[in-house]
Amino acid sequence: MDKIEIKPSELWISVTSKIKTMVTEQAYATWFEPIKAVAIENHSLTLEVPSKFYYEWIDSHYGTILLEKLKEITGENLKIRYSVVVGEPIIKSRQSSSIVEKQNLLNASNEYYDSGSKLNKRYTFENFVEGANNQLAKAASISVAEALGETSFNPLLIYGGVGLGKTHLIQAVGNQVIKNKSITKVHYTTSEKFTLDFISAIQKNNSSKFSEKYRNADLLLVDDIQFLQKKEQTQEQFFHTFNDLYQRGKQIILTTDRHPSELNGLKDRLLSRFQSGLIVDIQAPSLETRIAILQKKAEDDGLSIPYEITELIATNVRGNIREMEGALIKLFAYSSLSHSDINMTLAKKALHETLGRSQTKKLTIDDIIYSVSDIVEISQKKIIGRGRKMEVVSARQIAMYLSREIVGASLENIGLHFGGRDHSTVIHACKSIKLKMKQKPDFKEYINSIRSKVEI
Ligand code: ADP
Ligand code: MG
Repeated sequence: MDKIEIKPSELWISVTSKIKTMVTEQAYATWFEPIKAVAIENHSLTLEVPSKFYYEWIDSHYGTILLEKLKEITGENLKIRYSVVVGEPIIKSRQSSSIVEKQNLLNASNEYYDSGSKLNKRYTFENFVEGANNQLAKAASISVAEALGETSFNPLLIYGGVGLGKTHLIQAVGNQVIKNKSITKVHYTTSEKFTLDFISAIQKNNSSKFSEKYRNADLLLVDDIQFLQKKEQTQEQFFHTFNDLYQRGKQIILTTDRHPSELNGLKDRLLSRFQSGLIVDIQAPSLETRIAILQKKAEDDGLSIPYEITELIATNVRGNIREMEGALIKLFAYSSLSHSDINMTLAKKALHETLGRSQTKKLTIDDIIYSVSDIVEISQKKIIGRGRKMEVVSARQIAMYLSREIVGASLENIGLHFGGRDHSTVIHACKSIKLKMKQKPDFKEYINSIRSKVEI
């Protein structure tokens, strides 16, 4: 293709009209509307984006799909380049694109991905925040990286829920190993990719190339092995690859979303191989760790963000770290688009939808118990339990009071959710909180701050 007979803007309209049907309205408005297609040259389409975050976000979340759609429409393998607009609000640049300053023409996927190992270079140990939830997994990963093939942690299997850092951690091992000794061959793959490769090798009658690709690794990282479930032939193939590497003292690291004993549909001999090294888990991070992660992310991107904003995000976006990161990026995008500093008002505005999700689904008594437990750092079990320690009683009373105030639940119902207590206990709790709020302004402020965190 020398020249595509289509204007960048027209091509972009065709692409986005397809994307529109695939993403939520909110995602579309946030991520696609502000983008402008400015050029088609040298087999690539140049997209102008408002900030580096946009580029990263778009590239990592929608990069593949954009390429696919471009191919569908043009029939050509166009690449995408991103141009970051600096110093000019995007609105202005729409009017007069010629005065737009451009910086860092970024080639999609080139900056962060190492094409050989398929590692994302941003996933390092340095920016993996340690907390009680991931301490062991991190320590084990570091040992493996520092003494490749010499520890008994082979395979190292890391399991944990979605978005809790498994991929980050195993890729950090890969990056560290390469950093220590660049000749080491690291190969990162997902079990899905492994399956696809295997199927395509069979189709092309090319299984020796397939084996070679995986078996010449010194370190093989296989992410999300739960997807091997029920794929017997692939499992068989994986078993051979595994054995081959293992016998030659090569290191294997695996991740899965649950403990291997709960992986149904995996052959026993594969399961026992998986369990023959070290198994470590990653749990959901505590509030403190979540805040630390957000601070670290911001810092790594050269941005400062007020503590209370990280706290706002961390207390409200609890699902997983990826979601939390999404909220942060959205906030950055919003601030860079509106050219305003990041402050509480802006944060609330920008994150309205993300933070509002829990509100629209109307809070329940259990939500309140969950939030209070998170904020005061006393377990839910203790809050609804029988313990009489002062701070536990206080947390319990606060949660009861807020259940009454926010949810408007009946005294009986509240009692029921707090370990089957009598309604008079709930009355007593509410009364004492109210009284204390009246007597002590500090306490009132404290309760209100908890309330606002629970409610956002
Ligand atoms: P998983 O593979 O478990 O689904 P990921 O490794 O993809 O999760 O992590 C999701 C996001 O959260 C990534 O951007 C990752 O960098 C980030 N993340 C997770 N845990 C941490 C941590 N402890 N410190 C810093 N970032 C983290
Ligand atoms: Mg992952």
